[in-house]
Amino acid sequence: MLSASNKPSRVVILLGPPGSGKGTQAKVIVERYGIPQISTGDMLREAVKSQTPLGLAAEQIMKSGGLVGDDIVNGLVEERIDRADCEKGFVLDGYPRTIEQAKVLGQILEKQQQPAPVVISLEVFPELVLQRISGRRTCRQCGRIYNVYFSPSRGEGICDACGGELIARADDSEAVVRERLVQYEKQTQPLIDFYQGLGQLRRLDGGAPIETVKEELFSILEGQKERSNHS
Ligand code: AMP
Repeated sequence: MLSASNKPSRVVILLGPPGSGKGTQAKVIVERYGIPQISTGDMLREAVKSQTPLGLAAEQIMKSGGLVGDDIVNGLVEERIDRADCEKGFVLDGYPRTIEQAKVLGQILEKQQQPAPVVISLEVFPELVLQRISGRRTCRQCGRIYNVYFSPSRGEGICDACGGELIARADDSEAVVRERLVQYEKQTQPLIDFYQGLGQLRRLDGGAPIETVKEELFSILEGQKERSNHS
C-alpha cells in the first residue's frame, strides 16, 4: 500500500525462538525504515507496572508463564497501530501468538488499510540456540558479555576488561533453554502453517552471520525476492 506521503508501508511479523537473533533484526528494521517496533510483552509489562485495570488482569497470567487472553492483546494492538507513527508500517514482536490473534490481526490491517504482513521466520537449529544462550557469560562487575563457544574471554571465567567474575544467568541454563524451545515450537508451529497457507511466510537462516541475515531481510522487504522465495 502507498500511504498518504507515497512511501510504501511495511507490516513485518518476526517469528523466531529465543537466541534466533529476532531482537537484533527487529532493531535493524526499525533503524532502516523508521517504523516502530511493537512488542506486546513490553506493552503488557508496562500495564502491569502502572497497575492499570488491564495490567492487573494480566499480571497473574504473565507470572505463571501462560498467555494473556486474545481479546486483551488484540485490543492493545489495535489501539497501538491506529496511532500516527504506524502509518508507514511497524514490526510486530511477540504477536500474534495464536491463530485467533493472527486472524484478528488480518481484519485490523484490512480495516486500517495496511498491507498484508510479511512474516519472517528466523530458523535456527536447537543446538545452535543452546550454544548461543547457554554459552553466554556476563561479567558480574562491568556487565560485558562473552560466549564460551563463540567469543570466550582470554582467562577462563575472568573478564578481559576488568578482571571481574563471569557468571551465567539462571534462566540461560541448558535445561531452561530446552524447555523454552519446546514451548516456542508448540506455540509457533501452527502460526507458521497458517501464514504459509496464506503465502505470507518467508524463511530465513537465523544461524547465518548477522550481516547476511540483514541483507536477506532487506531484499525480502524490498520485494526483490517476491518471485523466487515463495515458501
Ligand atoms: P514476551 O516478552 O513476548 O516473552 O512476553 C511476556 C509475557 O507476556 C508472555 O509470557 C505472555 O504472558 C504475555 N504475552 C506477550 N505477548 C502475548 C500475546 N501475543 N498473547 C498472549 N500473551 C502475550
